[in-house]
Amino acid sequence: MRRFSILLPVLLLATQATAQTPYPDPIPSTLPGLDYSESIYPDRSDHDPSVPAPESVLGFPVGQRTATPEQVVAYARAVAEASARVQLVEYARSYEGRPLVYLAISSPANLARSAEIQAGMAALADPRGLDGAKRNRLIEELPAVAWLAYSIHGNETSGSDAALAVIHHLAADRSDTTTRLLDELVVIVDPNMNPDGRARFVKSLAETRGTQPNVDDQSLLHTGYWPYGRGNHYLFDLNRDWIYARHPETRGRIPEIAAWRPLLMVDAHEMGSQDTYLFSPAREPHNPHLPPYRRTMGETFADDQGRAFDRYGYPYYSGEWHEDWYPGYTDAWASLRGALGVLYEQARIAEDGVQRSSNLLSYRQSVHHQVISSLANLETLRRERKTMLEAFSSDRAEVSSPRGPYGNRSFVILPTANQGRLNDLLDLLRIQGLEAHRLTRAVRVGTATDQLGRELRNHELPAGSIVLRNRQPEARLLAAMFEFDSRMSDAALAYERERVLRTGRSTIYDTTGWNITMMFGLEALTVPQHLEAGLEPLDLERAAEPAPLPAAGAQVIALAASGADDRALAFAGRMMERGYFVRSNGEPSSLDGHALPIGSIALTRDDNRGRADWQADAREAAQQLGIPLHAVTHGRAPGMLADLGGRQWRLLARPNIALLSRGLNNMLDFGATWYLLDHRLGIRHSHLDEDRIGAFDLRRYNVIYLPERWGSTELPPALTAALGDWVRAGGTLIAVGNSARALMSAEQPLVNTRPIEAVIGEALAPYQDAIHREWLARQPLPAGEVVWGHAAAPGAEYPWSNGEDPAKPEERTRIDAWQAMLMPSGAIVATRADSTHWLAAGTGPVLPVLYSNSPVLMAALPVESPFRIGLYLGMDGEGGTLNWAPVPEKHELRVRMSGLLWPEARERIASSAWVTRESVGRGQVILFAHAPAFRAAQLGAMRVLENALVLGPGMGASQPVPLP
Ligand SMILES: [Zn+2]
Repeated sequence: MRRFSILLPVLLLATQATAQTPYPDPIPSTLPGLDYSESIYPDRSDHDPSVPAPESVLGFPVGQRTATPEQVVAYARAVAEASARVQLVEYARSYEGRPLVYLAISSPANLARSAEIQAGMAALADPRGLDGAKRNRLIEELPAVAWLAYSIHGNETSGSDAALAVIHHLAADRSDTTTRLLDELVVIVDPNMNPDGRARFVKSLAETRGTQPNVDDQSLLHTGYWPYGRGNHYLFDLNRDWIYARHPETRGRIPEIAAWRPLLMVDAHEMGSQDTYLFSPAREPHNPHLPPYRRTMGETFADDQGRAFDRYGYPYYSGEWHEDWYPGYTDAWASLRGALGVLYEQARIAEDGVQRSSNLLSYRQSVHHQVISSLANLETLRRERKTMLEAFSSDRAEVSSPRGPYGNRSFVILPTANQGRLNDLLDLLRIQGLEAHRLTRAVRVGTATDQLGRELRNHELPAGSIVLRNRQPEARLLAAMFEFDSRMSDAALAYERERVLRTGRSTIYDTTGWNITMMFGLEALTVPQHLEAGLEPLDLERAAEPAPLPAAGAQVIALAASGADDRALAFAGRMMERGYFVRSNGEPSSLDGHALPIGSIALTRDDNRGRADWQADAREAAQQLGIPLHAVTHGRAPGMLADLGGRQWRLLARPNIALLSRGLNNMLDFGATWYLLDHRLGIRHSHLDEDRIGAFDLRRYNVIYLPERWGSTELPPALTAALGDWVRAGGTLIAVGNSARALMSAEQPLVNTRPIEAVIGEALAPYQDAIHREWLARQPLPAGEVVWGHAAAPGAEYPWSNGEDPAKPEERTRIDAWQAMLMPSGAIVATRADSTHWLAAGTGPVLPVLYSNSPVLMAALPVESPFRIGLYLGMDGEGGTLNWAPVPEKHELRVRMSGLLWPEARERIASSAWVTRESVGRGQVILFAHAPAFRAAQLGAMRVLENALVLGPGMGASQPVPLP
């Protein structure tokens, strides 16, 4: 192959920029290793010149610099046009409108029968009704499908550039090796999984590129800058989105993968620049639902891949930091669907090259590594085609069998008034291709387990429950997503504990809990049987029933939406966005026979006089959201329930929201909240650059959101200085994780909530009494004769008299530091909700939430704690004191729901607050221990954040009356 000089792009830049100056640009430095001389294609390649080579479209050879998303698609289209071996499919558009495409590359004969191949794979994938003869014939005849997916993280660029070479080689090479490969395989190349992220990153490359090559990996060219290119438009990590399917990139891709059923799924990434090259298989912990051949066949693939590297003497490894626990990674998710998922991690070189201790690694070489890996994996798949088809087919048969590991288990999602949230679940089931049923009548089962691990005997499952029977073709994916409490192997646990004790650092790479019903805040049970009685299949493709909307009428005084449904908040947000006045109730109400629990929304005629279209506009917003709207003609509620004109139906203030941005703000939390405001609530808002915060007039906003902070427990001093006056004047300040920690730890804190380490060695009585008061407020009254007695006499019982004293202060501090070492990497814990609090609107008595190494919030009255960690369960226990917190007699506190949460950490966070709210002047501060909008998938916790954002300014802060 011709060799191109690495200097080409630099010279292009130079000629454009400085044609006639007295300082001609320098001749770019030549550095050993920068001009990589190996061909990026295999030996003995014989490329058909009628298929365009990448440089003819890009203007430079593959790997010389980073191709833009537009160049990647342009090249894919050019090859599809020129080659009979290639078909291009556009499967989605990104948020920024960029096309997402894949190429199906195979022999023209295979491509001509692609529908037949997909039907054959579908038959193998669903063994119910597949006879042995047909199965054997399919295994004999079907090509194996490989799915090569590149650069899901937009700033890990080498994958997409490698994809261009892989596409070119497969489409153009006339050698026997490639011809045979394409006879026996269909290769899907998904060349650029995250075009918006890559576009952001290549823009930063263009911004930071100079006249000389840049090989310093600390330089902006290589590091990029906030918000980096990793995430999509909303900065989400798409390599975590597979089980939640929140984004167009994932949602477009899943049905295509389901249609092709690849047996190999490659997911090409990059890691730290000073590293080498990592590929699968992973080390422990392994997700228990991965098919066994992921490990056995994984070894075969890895051996071949390693040999391909050995040929050049390039270093590589597998295992080490790469583990397999979280099921939402590309390779794990694909494996759960039956593919062999293979992860690539190339040392990250953004462009030019990176100097390392003993050598300079050029970008082009890093691209070559990805090409070597891809072609090696394809060759292994070709050789193992029949073995892989066999393994896939027998595994599907086993998991669909009554005697298989999933033969006798069903997950039951209990009915809920929160239809909006349930719709989200049904959408997820549909997109993942999972089979679901509904109970048409109540059914009694011998035993069931709830999300807190309680066994229920002789239990009745209510009519309307959704039933997911684990015995189905996608059993592995279903189990990974819905099993309440997957367990790691003892070996994995022992390794994790040893590393934490020795180094203080966890070896787990992502959250250890992700259970869908818990993340969604939906109540569910596991039943150890394949339920059959009283079931009807659920047609997930059928659109939801249109919501009943009342007819407009002159006698209508209000239109109301029940706060039991999450969409009520979006309804309120969208109506306020259109300039309407909206009310919400701080106490339960019922109007015209419609129950309106706390946090319901009402649009009244009186508030919106002069808006002739108020009913039509409300109906339009409700129809768009699909939420039922109730027409109210009479403002009086029965009994003690809140009348429409009373002070419990509070006027909401239109939220003028600012999100703190850039600097040290965690992009993921910032992005998730931005997504929530844009796509759920539909409220305009501002993003404030924290580096310029001192210059801004915060009075424009009545809500400020401080996202989780990365590695920092301090806020910009100019912000801290301005926030006090702003909150006291009526602002609603919401702070998450380390931002909450920063507010609590400031020299003169704005809040009374404290982090546990600051108070555990001090007087604990106020924190204990807060727990006593919350507990006793829910208990029955003392006997009448005690209350109405006349004598002041000794004998009153005080709640703390039963508890033993916690350890001495210095001992408590030491215990806390020990417990802090064992904090989780993301486990799901139970919180007990105060159902009388507006922040808990739309939440049942238990809200599962994710918790990681979050600040442990200690709150004593008058700080409100609408959610505390742990649920009291009645049992024979003695009660007493757990760490610092009282536990009532005959109760125990259940904390862990799912994921790894060591006993020490359970004790540490028990009864601390997950959310606190406190008044400060005319305003309020709301602290969250952990990011509520996490991955936009924690729907239960997200509702609490939506309550804070939409209801907050009206419910918890005081707004001035606007004088005319
Ligand atoms: Zn990555």
